[in-house]
Amino acid sequence: MSSPVVRRSPTHAARVVATAQLTPRMRRVTVQADAMIGVVTRPAQDVELFLREDGGRRVKRRYTIRHARPDIGELDLDVLLHGHGPGATWGASAEPGDSVEFQGPRGKLELTAADWHLLAGDESALPAIAAVCEALPRDVRALAFVEVDDESDELPLPASTQPHWVHRRGADIGTPTLLRAAIDALPTPPGSGHAYLMGETRSMVALRAVLEARGVAHDAIFVKGYWNIGRPDRIEGRSPGR
Ligand SMILES: Cc1cc2nc3c(=O)[nH]c(=O)nc-3n(C[C@H](O)[C@H](O)[C@H](O)COP(=O)(O)OP(=O)(O)OC[C@H]3O[C@@H](n4cnc5c(N)ncnc54)[C@H](O)[C@@H]3O)c2cc1C
Repeated sequence: MSSPVVRRSPTHAARVVATAQLTPRMRRVTVQADAMIGVVTRPAQDVELFLREDGGRRVKRRYTIRHARPDIGELDLDVLLHGHGPGATWGASAEPGDSVEFQGPRGKLELTAADWHLLAGDESALPAIAAVCEALPRDVRALAFVEVDDESDELPLPASTQPHWVHRRGADIGTPTLLRAAIDALPTPPGSGHAYLMGETRSMVALRAVLEARGVAHDAIFVKGYWNIGRPDRIEGRSPGR
């Protein structure tokens, strides 16, 4: 009897080539990998970095490819400095010359033709929201609802996007309350809509129900959990819905 074929995604070696502080809490880490030369990525695809926890255990963390330069194999990753997990620690401390391994690019988000697009999420999804807005046709209405702590977390979005910045100002993170209120305050635009919800998992699931109640079809809503309140991201291996 033959054994089942197990297909593993290849692991790529990269090195950090540049860093830039975009906001007080968002740091861009540019990595270069020869394996990425000639690889064309889709908007909001991501890479899964292999990092180390304090105790040395290997863990994976996913970061959106904000920009790719396939001619030289560079990827810009914008890392939110939200605390002391392995991802945020790497984002805060990465320096040119550091080595890092990753798998990917990966990600299932696909742009779908619609009369209008609604994007919503928290600051961890700002790189993905910006990448999607940049990729949408300029004459299509794009509404971006982004929850951040305050104005200092805001980053530029394309001029063709209608930004709705939602400020927590110290209120609890990882709840749908503020984004729900902001979306509810806007009349549903006419025509067919497509929504992309990316951020804290349970909050994004709650927002899907809000949009469905407003008449957006279930199949026209892309939902992706980026993190879970009060719980570190998975270690190596599978976890539901990721
Ligand atoms: C497809 C995909 C793309 C992503 N792209 C990006 C990206 O471009 N930039 C980015 O910054 N993040 C991105 N994320 C989110 C990022 O992978 C998670 O936030 C991850 O948990 C961070 O790992 P960590 O080691 O810093 O914290 P963890 O060890 O996973 O968690 C430690 C603690 O921090 C909390 N926590 C985790 N994330 C956040 C957060 N965003 N805000 C507040 N508290 C948090 C957890 O609940 C836990 O209590 C993406 C996630 C996915 C699935």
